[in-house]
Amino acid sequence: MAAPRGPRPRPGVLDIAPYVPGTSALPGAQAVIKLSSNETPFGPSPRALAAYRDAAGALSRYPDGSARPLREAIAAFYGLDAARIVCGAGSDELLNLLATAYLGPGDEAIYSAHGFLVYKIAIMARGATPVAAPETELTADVDAILACVSPRTRLVFIANPNNPTGTYLPFDQVKRLREALPDDVLLVLDAAYAEYVRKNDYESGIELVATSSNTVMTRTFSKLYGLASLRIGWAYCPPAIADALNRIRGPFNVSGPAIAASVAALGDQPWAQTAVEHNEMWRGQLTEALSGIGLGVTPSAANFLLLHFGAANGKSAVAADKFLHERRIILRRVEEYGLPGALRMTIGTEDENRAALDALTAFMRGNGARQ
Ligand code: PMP
Repeated sequence: MAAPRGPRPRPGVLDIAPYVPGTSALPGAQAVIKLSSNETPFGPSPRALAAYRDAAGALSRYPDGSARPLREAIAAFYGLDAARIVCGAGSDELLNLLATAYLGPGDEAIYSAHGFLVYKIAIMARGATPVAAPETELTADVDAILACVSPRTRLVFIANPNNPTGTYLPFDQVKRLREALPDDVLLVLDAAYAEYVRKNDYESGIELVATSSNTVMTRTFSKLYGLASLRIGWAYCPPAIADALNRIRGPFNVSGPAIAASVAALGDQPWAQTAVEHNEMWRGQLTEALSGIGLGVTPSAANFLLLHFGAANGKSAVAADKFLHERRIILRRVEEYGLPGALRMTIGTEDENRAALDALTAFMRGNGARQ
């Protein structure tokens, strides 16, 4: 067969498996319970919504090109240097910008075996080689990561806590990793779920970024702050890395409404803290209840739980997913993360959590087919 004519993507691009987002709708008109994308069940602060609506009056104007009002609000809130913050259209954009700035053909970048899928895509999109480090008990393993380091390693991505496992690395482990990595290897700490973590031995990465020249932390307004659709993330960087990102990012990569809404969201901490408390309570309750019906539940530090079907309980994740869909409940399949026996469940409202728990209880008891 003749080769197709026309432009061809760079080598490697067509080897990338496209990212498949969590399912958000099912056939039919009835409402669904969507627990598939780790969104907050509370939505954004009313103050963020009001700021978003107000911003509609200025849509004909370009936004501040460096998202200065947002960088300053973040800097004031966390006690950081605004000049070292770079904002992006979701932390996804920042992860990709970091890959663009630091990776190219011939380079290697490491991530943990069940790490967030965007890393592999970002690495391959630059023609670099993705290297998956084995995990221990579904948790990033510092020694396994270090064993993957070669002279070609340029970057290590760690989600802390990780999606889809929910597991986290204590700060002393992160520091040990940083100390053992070569100085010219960039460590990216993706702390998308940091606000949900309630562990004394956890630190999102701010301290390491402040004290090293080769570590970046990324954060997002998509999860706790309920602004996933607006696409807002930020990175805290050493000055030279912020400089590199600012050279390659789009000149207006964060929209005016996104800047306004996220500044207001950050300013409404009571709203955010209510969501954290709710998550904390339900994370514990659901972990216990779901374990009680025979599911394996990976201990989570985030706003979701990884549920294991299979050998121990004789049930399949695919059958559970179908059973839940028949009841209009959507969890996240995680085959592409190498976890075909698991489903990921976002912690929802009380009603959503109870509906999912009831359905999973019915499934585990074996009254599988809907009457
Ligand atoms: N990192 C992790 C670990 C995530 O789970 C997600 C969202 N799925 C992101 C980054 C990207 O989030 P966003 O682009 O919405 O900021």
